Amino acid sequence: MIYREYGKTGKNVSVLGFGGMRFANPSDIDGSAEMLLHALNQGINYFDTAPGYCGDHSEDIFGAAVTEMKKLGKPFYLSTKSNKADGGEVRRELENSLKRLNVDCIDFYNCWYVLTMEDWAGRKKGGAVTAILKAQEEGLIKHPAFSTHLPGEDIRKVIEEDYFEGVTLGYSVINFPYREEGIKAATEHGKGVVVMNPLGGGTITQNPDTFDFIRVRPEQNNLDGALHFLMNNKDISVMLTGFRNKSDIDTAVASVDAYRPYTKEEVEEIRKHIDSDFNNLCTTCMYCNNCPVDIPVWKFVESANGLYYDADGSIADRLKYHWGTDISVLDLCTECRLCEDVCTQHLPILERFEELRSAIGDQ
Ligand code: SF4
Ligand code: SF4
Repeated sequence: MIYREYGKTGKNVSVLGFGGMRFANPSDIDGSAEMLLHALNQGINYFDTAPGYCGDHSEDIFGAAVTEMKKLGKPFYLSTKSNKADGGEVRRELENSLKRLNVDCIDFYNCWYVLTMEDWAGRKKGGAVTAILKAQEEGLIKHPAFSTHLPGEDIRKVIEEDYFEGVTLGYSVINFPYREEGIKAATEHGKGVVVMNPLGGGTITQNPDTFDFIRVRPEQNNLDGALHFLMNNKDISVMLTGFRNKSDIDTAVASVDAYRPYTKEEVEEIRKHIDSDFNNLCTTCMYCNNCPVDIPVWKFVESANGLYYDADGSIADRLKYHWGTDISVLDLCTECRLCEDVCTQHLPILERFEELRSAIGDQ
């Protein structure tokens, strides 16, 4: 296992993190808890959960594992979250998480799921940020962080406000241009970076042919390609992978152990392919952030990618839960086609809107 410093916290975290959102049998609390022990024995020391994950069983599974994990005498770090804007509600969730996780202090606590800059303003106004910082002063939280789906430039703005010691963000070999700026900003300001969705929510491994270009060496499979590309970026502290069972853990650990640094040429090769092999897919580069009626075009076109390969979940859910929007926003479109003029992939964006409308109608 490879360990990296999480920002300036002095914590050495495993580059492969345990994401507690995909347990195969979450109602089997003890059986699932064994997976955390197994992971700790394999060198994983960063464990991420949240209220509500896996039918709200995930924090209980973590709590059941913690007592046994302490007995192993190896350092490990717990991360959980609150998505509430109201400070009082954050405090209640935090106290509940402490009880469920069976600890007096949570190592990393995320102001969770910051979707837009308006949302971020609401977290500050509602008292969520103050509540998290107060809990840190009281010793209930060690390191405050935030988790977000904002684009890179907005992540930079939140980082520069300097409330948090780290950021958790969605990032993968197939969407890296969208949040690269956020990772750069985190490093410039000494913050930790935890990457969620390193496998694009399973898309990369479920569609080996579409994403074949991420394998730069013959011995690699798509999982290796996805993880090794991220590991090659030293600014990333942890890649959070959602494990269903012990076998998923073993496979991911073996992949991390097989990592050898990429050459500059190999990285360039992947970057080039993002432009060329993705010729019918949106890369979330955000050049289309120029809509005169403020439609977040990239959110819709990226969601429409799911029509071209086997994606996890429904498109309506992706728009709602990942992007915080819905199809009715497209009613504002005047069909001026300014977005199509600047699209780096030359995508027929208005056609994609229509395809999205009918796909959502059918779901
Ligand atoms: S075509 Fe529609 S979505 Fe594209 S820039 Fe014009 S109004 Fe915005
Ligand atoms: S629609 Fe085109 S310009 Fe917009 S984010 Fe996707 S690839 Fe980039």
